[in-house]
Amino acid sequence: MLIVQTIAELKACLNGEREQGHSVGLVPTMGALHAGHASLVERSVKENDVTVVSIFLNPTQFNDKKDLERYPRTLEADCELLEKCGAQVVFAPSVEEVYPEPDTRVFSYPPTDSVMEGAFRPGHFNGVCQIVSKLFDYVEPDRAYFGEKDYQQICVIRRMVEDLKMDINIVACPVIREESGLARSSRNTLLSDDERQLAAHIYRVLSESRKKQMSVAETHDFVVSEIDAIEGLKVQYFSIVDGLTLADVSTWDDAESVVGCITVYCGAVPIRLIDHIRYK
Ligand code: AMP
Repeated sequence: MLIVQTIAELKACLNGEREQGHSVGLVPTMGALHAGHASLVERSVKENDVTVVSIFLNPTQFNDKKDLERYPRTLEADCELLEKCGAQVVFAPSVEEVYPEPDTRVFSYPPTDSVMEGAFRPGHFNGVCQIVSKLFDYVEPDRAYFGEKDYQQICVIRRMVEDLKMDINIVACPVIREESGLARSSRNTLLSDDERQLAAHIYRVLSESRKKQMSVAETHDFVVSEIDAIEGLKVQYFSIVDGLTLADVSTWDDAESVVGCITVYCGAVPIRLIDHIRYK
């Protein structure tokens, strides 16, 4: 496995692969890798001749400086995991390498990037589009792998790829969960054992809400009231939306696919956790 830090090294090694007609898969990550990331990498390894994994804690997508400061950094362990998964190339650049100048580009794909995370984390998806479009330019992958864990992010990236007419297949991969149901996340390491147990209620309640066959409004209120009733958890938002456009729905028949997206504050610090469930 090759570990490169510069764009020039990355391009040089990928040019060689392309000359041999090899397909390239890209898995963008921010490091602190776990089984969720590994599932994306393993899928890319199966579907491509060469898999590039980027590890870059992208400052432009953090609207909260403290969140960026406390984000776990585990490069050595990350590389060990990636070697086991069969990745061929790790791209781990510095901030200066990626942003020699401030990136002033503006991306706007409403409502996908303006609702939910877009509303509560202003600038977040603009930063995501800045880094992902740069990575796509450097790597020119045939396929790029993203986790449905960040459901809204996939919708925004699909819009960006369409808008910029990029010839890249966006592959959405299912959420990998802990045994308790809690979605695996790099931020879970910031939770205490007790908080982790609390956090498991998020998916439990979401799953229960799917079984109850209630209206959209009742489902919304059920989820929010059940989670808020648990001490140590506080819902920031729960939105039931069209699974493609992310526009709000008021009945189950309003869209072909319907998902519920939630953000919950958990514990003392508190840590912000996201999850979602597909209703239809
Ligand atoms: P991150 O490092 O958090 O930016 O995540 C990098 C990629 O891994 C994103 O496409 C995430 O959606 C995906 N990912 C993170 N956690 C999980 C998970 N539990 N299951 C599936 N994919 C995940």
